[in-house]
Amino acid sequence: MRKFYVIGIGPGERDQMTIKAFKTLQNVDIIAGYKKYIELIRPFFPDKEYLQTGMTGEVERCRMALDKALEGKTVAMVSSGDPGIYGMSGLVLELARDMDIDVETIPGITAAASGGSLLGAPLMHDFAVISLSDRLTEWNVIKDRVKYASFGDFIIVLYNPRSKGRPTLLEEARKIMLKSKRGETPVGIVKNIGREGEEVILSTLEEMDINDIDMFTTVFIGNSQTYIHGDRMITPRGYLEKKGKKS
Ligand code: SAH
Repeated sequence: MRKFYVIGIGPGERDQMTIKAFKTLQNVDIIAGYKKYIELIRPFFPDKEYLQTGMTGEVERCRMALDKALEGKTVAMVSSGDPGIYGMSGLVLELARDMDIDVETIPGITAAASGGSLLGAPLMHDFAVISLSDRLTEWNVIKDRVKYASFGDFIIVLYNPRSKGRPTLLEEARKIMLKSKRGETPVGIVKNIGREGEEVILSTLEEMDINDIDMFTTVFIGNSQTYIHGDRMITPRGYLEKKGKKS
């Protein structure tokens, strides 16, 4: 059976890619992906054949890559972070459902993990990951998810925090969160993780500057216990408070 890999390359730098991802990429015939991700990895695999497309050509990109696999080439489709988290895994598996192709997914470090470690330890308790992109999801559905995750006191990690078409979505999301989270709730803004221009900004839900945030940013909003100490954002798991409580 033909082999097709869907590979997570992590946030961007080579050292945050798994050894399995790296070795597999070394061995495939063709690497396919969005051009921004291809640019990130091309220097490590300069002699490969590449198949690249723009951001919105996902279906076309996957079809082209699967066609190459059917022709007999070993193909890898790359996603930043983890391919199973707002990446290409789902679409590849759906398109390949009736094809004689064996799809293998190789995980990568998702932005919640790489960004979380730059901030400190914001995700030590239950958290919800929400994409603010309304390209494929109704804005009403997204708003409900923000509302209930916030009401449930989840730490919230926002991916795709700013849609090009509707830059005000984040402001709307902030207003929704302020209905059940305090204005002083710590916020961590992490930009260009593992890439040129990496930056960490600490703020609060009330004070965060929406202008600091673009599509290469992941935003962490704490729960009711999260605090900032120096330049670290910490959500206690409860170990130090456990004394005296029944287990
Ligand atoms: N599959 C990716 C997510 C793709 S959705 C993953 O697992 O990380 C794209 C969103 O992910 C971006 O808008 C941003 O919110 C986040 N993201 C991905 N890579 C990032 C990076 N290097 N730095 C900051 N945010 C990143």
